[in-house]
Amino acid sequence: VEFVNLAATYSKVNLGQGFPDFPPPDFLKEAFMRAVSGQSQALHQYTRAFGHPPLVKVLAQFFGKLLGRDLDPMTNVMVTVGAYQALFCCFQAFVEEGNEVIIIEPFFDCYEPMVRMAGGTPVFVPLRLKAPEAGRLMSSADWELDPAELASKFSERTKAIVLNSPNNPLGKVFGRRELEAVARLCVRHGALCFSDEVYEWLVYDGRQHLRVASLPGMWERTVTIGSSGKTFSVTGWKVGWAVGPDQLLQHLRTVHQNSVYHCATAAQEAVAQGFQRELELYGKPESYFRQLPRELQQKRDSLVQSLAAVGMKPIVPEGTYFLVADISEFKSDVPEDPSSDEPYDSRFAKWMVKEKGLAAIPFSAFFCDAHKSSHSHFLRFCFAKEEATLKATNDILQAWKREKSSS
Ligand code: PMP
Repeated sequence: VEFVNLAATYSKVNLGQGFPDFPPPDFLKEAFMRAVSGQSQALHQYTRAFGHPPLVKVLAQFFGKLLGRDLDPMTNVMVTVGAYQALFCCFQAFVEEGNEVIIIEPFFDCYEPMVRMAGGTPVFVPLRLKAPEAGRLMSSADWELDPAELASKFSERTKAIVLNSPNNPLGKVFGRRELEAVARLCVRHGALCFSDEVYEWLVYDGRQHLRVASLPGMWERTVTIGSSGKTFSVTGWKVGWAVGPDQLLQHLRTVHQNSVYHCATAAQEAVAQGFQRELELYGKPESYFRQLPRELQQKRDSLVQSLAAVGMKPIVPEGTYFLVADISEFKSDVPEDPSSDEPYDSRFAKWMVKEKGLAAIPFSAFFCDAHKSSHSHFLRFCFAKEEATLKATNDILQAWKREKSSS
């Protein structure tokens, strides 16, 4: 929140908070306009609390196909106010005082407070950076989950693990071996898995997104969470969903019914039509789910080049629309301050937005308090941006480089 406010005040170019600055696809905007301006008065009124029927039906068809099982739209799918509310429902529904929830670091920052609000205790397990081969850029694949370390965090107190693949902020796409290790431990310890897959379509270089719920023994213990915000580039619509077995979703429905109750009908109708289109075009080149990652991969490569050219070492992401870069070579601009408790990257990001007009998010924000200081020389940039925004970023970085070399 602090960095969003700073960006609003000072930034010329905002690569901080994660949202596209390009428009959503026409077919989706048109579907929304039809929903609000058409003949149907019903789309202005309440719909079914757990999801507008056309949307849960198409989500059940779509995810049923992906997971290889028949899904019942009424009991295996629930529509939420963004993926955020689906996460909130999971923690509220299942986590109680005395429960532990395993969170893989770095993590999307709301997981920790949401676990604590439910009375649970977060237990952190870090992705470990293995040294990249000399002469090659770092990749998000260089950050690995150590199966022995992960196993050491599970106990009889473990209620659940939160999995986020592709991962915000690193862009790591978890491989089959890592997911199988998670699955084995969940089954052995009777733990649940909250699988945050909001970036499921944003994977690059031909990589495949794997769904943990499709692994043996995992369907019955997994809630899979998605977001139209990321899927269709409409973060402001706040339409998300949870998919899973009825015996888990029934508890999410209780939380949803007694808090939010309902999500905006017209937005759900438009997202339903978007999914209907994608179902028909599934796997075809015209599918938005294929077109969007193609475009984003080019944007990723453009930002990688801009950052690398000035000496910020990018970690090339396999997925998501985020990119983390190493700022250790910029100590001459922002010297270390041993008397400050604030992580270095946080001071650096504030300095950068005020002095250079470029907003990014400090990497340490994605770690628990105890681990922030060991990950404080990276920044996270969002590259879901128009050409012009990426060009303006490049201009700022080049001018900065010229200044540095002349001083
Ligand atoms: N999970 C992750 C990993 C995210 O990055 C975000 C949004 N930044 C969300 C969930 C929330 O998604 P929504 O906007 O659909 O609530």
